[in-house]
Amino acid sequence: NETLLRDEIGRYLNINPDNIVAGNGSSEMIELVMKTFIDKDDIILSFIPTFSMYSIFSKIYSAKFVGIKSNDDFSTNMDILIRIAKEIKPKVIFLCNPNNPTGYLTDKNEIKKLLESVDSIVVVDEAYMEFARDSVVEEISRYKNLIVLRTLSKALGLAAIRLGYMAACEDIIKVIKKVKSPY
Ligand SMILES: *Cc1c(COP(=O)(O)O)cnc(C)c1O
Repeated sequence: NETLLRDEIGRYLNINPDNIVAGNGSSEMIELVMKTFIDKDDIILSFIPTFSMYSIFSKIYSAKFVGIKSNDDFSTNMDILIRIAKEIKPKVIFLCNPNNPTGYLTDKNEIKKLLESVDSIVVVDEAYMEFARDSVVEEISRYKNLIVLRTLSKALGLAAIRLGYMAACEDIIKVIKKVKSPY
């Protein structure tokens, strides 16, 4: 049952179960963010290379995907991303952390700096965070523009059961639930 599941995830992440929405993999959560917040011609910003579904869903929802190239050693520069975000005002910023496919891990303080510098919704996709450290999931109570995505597909090897979830503040969860199908 859904309440039991959210209670269990809440304990696992040390957050309030009311701040969680679970669904058919984090892929559904990525699409749900688009469905909920993206209007035609909105800008979606990300470092590249990154998880391909961000740009694929951007296309499907008629948004403009802007990718900022990683450095040759796969590191990324948050100050550049913040500067560009201030300029082009993306509706949503996707940050895959650790990043698929490069494995680059962005420092938590860099993500906090981003959250404090922009009005955009910042989606931190933590599909591989069980293999790393520096999750920002507990920051959802502090930042109203933060969405964290998690999945059982990678560390737990359960891709076929299709279970992923999002953590965010009450206001975001409320509007996401209005858009999400109940199944
Ligand atoms: C695998 C993956 C997903 C999607 O996984 P689901 O099976 O839909 O939960 C999302 N984001 C990243 C970065 C991934 O690598």
